[in-house]
Amino acid sequence: MGKDANAIYGINRWGDPYFTVLDNGDMAIATPGKPDYPPVSLPAIITNLEDRGIQLPILLRVSSFLENSLQQINESFAKAIADNDYSGAYRGVFPIKVNQQEQVIERIVSFGQQYHFGLECGSKPELIIALSQPLSDQSLIICNGIKDREFVALAMQSRKIGFNTVIVIESPNELDIVVDVARELDMDPALGVRMKLTHRVGGAWAESSGDRSAFGLTSDQVLDVVDRLRAENLLHTLVLQHSHLGSQIPDLNDVRRAVSEACRYFTELTKEGAPLCYLDLGGGLGFDYTGQKRISDHSVNYTVADYCNAIVEITGYAMNAAGIPHPHLVTESGRATVASSSMLLFNVLEATLYDSADRPEVSEDDHHLITELAALGNITHNDRLSHSLHDAVYLRDELRALFRREQIGIRELAKGERVYLNLIAKFRDLMDKADPDLQSDAREELNSIADIYHCNFSLFQSLPDVWAIDQMHPITPLQRLNETPDRHAILSDITCDSDGKIDQFVVADGVSPTLPVHKLTDDPYYLGAFYVGAYQETLGDLHNLFGDTNVVTIECTPEGGFELLHEVEGDDIAEVLTYVEYDPNDMFAAFKSRVEAAIKRGDITPSERKAITAAYKDSIRGYTYFEH
Ligand SMILES: *Cc1c(COP(=O)(O)O)cnc(C)c1O
Repeated sequence: MGKDANAIYGINRWGDPYFTVLDNGDMAIATPGKPDYPPVSLPAIITNLEDRGIQLPILLRVSSFLENSLQQINESFAKAIADNDYSGAYRGVFPIKVNQQEQVIERIVSFGQQYHFGLECGSKPELIIALSQPLSDQSLIICNGIKDREFVALAMQSRKIGFNTVIVIESPNELDIVVDVARELDMDPALGVRMKLTHRVGGAWAESSGDRSAFGLTSDQVLDVVDRLRAENLLHTLVLQHSHLGSQIPDLNDVRRAVSEACRYFTELTKEGAPLCYLDLGGGLGFDYTGQKRISDHSVNYTVADYCNAIVEITGYAMNAAGIPHPHLVTESGRATVASSSMLLFNVLEATLYDSADRPEVSEDDHHLITELAALGNITHNDRLSHSLHDAVYLRDELRALFRREQIGIRELAKGERVYLNLIAKFRDLMDKADPDLQSDAREELNSIADIYHCNFSLFQSLPDVWAIDQMHPITPLQRLNETPDRHAILSDITCDSDGKIDQFVVADGVSPTLPVHKLTDDPYYLGAFYVGAYQETLGDLHNLFGDTNVVTIECTPEGGFELLHEVEGDDIAEVLTYVEYDPNDMFAAFKSRVEAAIKRGDITPSERKAITAAYKDSIRGYTYFEH
């Protein structure tokens, strides 16, 4: 069982090793690397959390998912290093901007300790975060981004208290600040230079690579930096070369070309006298959101092991050819480290259907347009489907026009609409039985009037990249996966914004404009959006003042249960109001004085006063999402 669900949603393609379908039709999470741990049902987790008073929508983090990706990156590098007789080590860093949440950083640092995994900061606040973590002097802290004096001074001084902090010079101007601060503090910093690669990689983030990318030094500028450092007697502090390859690079060949170019700069700068010992290749390691294993914006044509092996092999070869010792390798893999670590769980509140199984009684006495419409339902085979669909739309629109011109009343209009909805149901039935290759026009049209499932979450808060850049995340129902889904839907969020919808889904044979779903019953219907750990959690905004969701971190147990490691309550309404500068106490006072005035006028009784003020007060302390 669960086989159908794999064939429909492609779960076995993108879900391994994290997700699996149970015989009872529940979506379940597995514990990677622990095949003897029974998978844990997500609907069961939701019920359990709701019993504890934690309501949907919930952002669920699974600690073993994060640990699995960290382990995978570090052990794949270790293996590639051993296989290629490479003599440097791997010293990865996590770019804080990809997920700054305290719980996530804390997990990465503590689990990453065994690998001397470090952190990358692109701003002063991120450096402040890094310096609060128990990192050893074996782990790197890499400072990228535009840096002022304060940033540079703090980074430099942190070396005195046992942090291995490297300041990466991103622009010629930054060098002045660095030289100044080093002289003032009378200490040797550890410096890096960021080289702008000319190779432009493919994919959705191509802009962050190549000549026109925002950061980094050109070959000409880096020589100035080297000469200047030599003149200031600081060249011996230049230990790292950084070249950010890009983000979510779909094609391994792009990685190979960019690494070769980075190696060329590395060997040349070494010959110039810089004692470089770290080669930092930035971000770019992609995550296969759709599981298609091919070159596309949401997939990649390589595994983590392929990526690591390509880097180690090319670097080793280039260094051997130049007669230079192998540098330690650094990557700043953000997405690949955290994408898998969390998922958004939410419930469907209601559905708007654009067809109906109810067949209205139509008789001779009805308007002739209505009887003509009803007659279209007599087709029995599907070769005229597209044609009949067009006729139906025409007749329905004529009825609407008559209504506007006061020639029919609301009851006739409503009957016409009901006949039309029943026709659509009939056409859908016919199409489902037809050869999938036939009737593609009709299929597309019927898809475009798919159901709308209204869901309890905000796209703008929880899945901002889906809205902004059409990022794809696998989304599936969390229950009834052993039943064939009988409906197709697009998803609409709880905001009053027509942009708050999802109409692109990962399915077994690729990407579909609708999601196969089940007809709603009286039972709750849950959906999950997976692999949302990278970039989504803090890019979100307060559209319609929907705030942060509840966040729960769990760990599965060997017995098939789970342990709640950490919980952060989502924003209440008072909190989101303070973000936009309201004072909830003042607001409550204003409301109360309005209630007092009504009492004075005798419009309400004292006990009504109590109820009204309590309603306001309870709301202001409530979750911003739909509660039940
Ligand atoms: C954003 C960023 C990263 C992370 O890139 P991923 O593709 O998420 O791995 C790494 N380094 C720098 C400098 C960045 O700006």
